[in-house]
Amino acid sequence: MIAILKPGTTPAQMQHLVDWLKHMNLDVHISKGTEVTVLGLIGDTSRVDMDLLKSLDMVESVKRVSEPYKQANRKFHPKDTIVQAGDVRIGGGYFAMIAGPCSVESEEQIIAVARAVKESGANILRGGAFKPRTSPYAFQGMNGEGIRLLLEAKKATGLPIVTEIMNITALDMFADVDIIQVGARNMQNFDLLKELGKTQKPILLKRGLANTLQELLMSAEYIMSEGNEQVILCERGIRTFETATRNTLDLSAVSVLHKLTHLPVVVDPSHATGKADLVAPMAYAATAAGADGIMIEVHNNPACALCDGAQSLTPHQFDEVCHKVRKIREAIV
Ligand code: PEP
Ligand code: MN
Repeated sequence: MIAILKPGTTPAQMQHLVDWLKHMNLDVHISKGTEVTVLGLIGDTSRVDMDLLKSLDMVESVKRVSEPYKQANRKFHPKDTIVQAGDVRIGGGYFAMIAGPCSVESEEQIIAVARAVKESGANILRGGAFKPRTSPYAFQGMNGEGIRLLLEAKKATGLPIVTEIMNITALDMFADVDIIQVGARNMQNFDLLKELGKTQKPILLKRGLANTLQELLMSAEYIMSEGNEQVILCERGIRTFETATRNTLDLSAVSVLHKLTHLPVVVDPSHATGKADLVAPMAYAATAAGADGIMIEVHNNPACALCDGAQSLTPHQFDEVCHKVRKIREAIV
């Protein structure tokens, strides 16, 4: 349930109302906009007398929110959430250009790629240190050493970094990581989500291989309900019957999510297509669809990449993508 307060409600009046609602064992989420303040009531709202609430002087309107996700719901929080990572903002008109290799492989590789993508206009560096591979025999990532090298690349370029966590026991290693990624395979690892909700780190939450948008929002809700509202959603393609691409990019997810939630939405055309030549067109389409950012895998030598070489762009190809993405953004805003 949400209660929209009338403009001019004083902080004391609002506090009075919040105390009364909390007395009914409800959690109250306050979202202050420039014009309106929205109170989100979380818990068993069946005991709230809607008519009584509506009749209060300070209350403009009261609505039941039927969706099971509350804090992620745009009805609760009409304004776009802007997530801050280092000095980069994402959402609400701020665009994230995230680039870097699938996996950190060596100091030379990550520093070279970080320098190149920054030069082209990337504002966040990606790189996997813990890799969720389908085969236990495939390269599993450099783990803690990979994070150390990412931090070196951050020092060398000033770019904030995003990297994936697979197990909460590794959380200490992420102390200086700017954005923690939850990969597609862990989107419904609810224990992991709850623990990440207790941190104040921005979380990049990728859509699961076969998950609906409502399930994605419920996973965001797991993080937010623990107190961390810094969540970025990522569409990275879903499993369908189509075999021409690694996954099927669900571009309409951008518009649907923008309607349903205030959280920023970024698109990963690399994992969505699995093919380097499809990354640029899908990045352009995602930009035109209004994504709040794009995440692209870039490798200085894709043919020798230890992971996902077939979908990785060279720095030169990425430079061209950045250039056109900027033009598309200028055209649509
Ligand atoms: C990744 O971004 O490196 C990754 C493994 O992606 P996903 O979880 O979307 O497969
Ligand atoms: Mn990858």
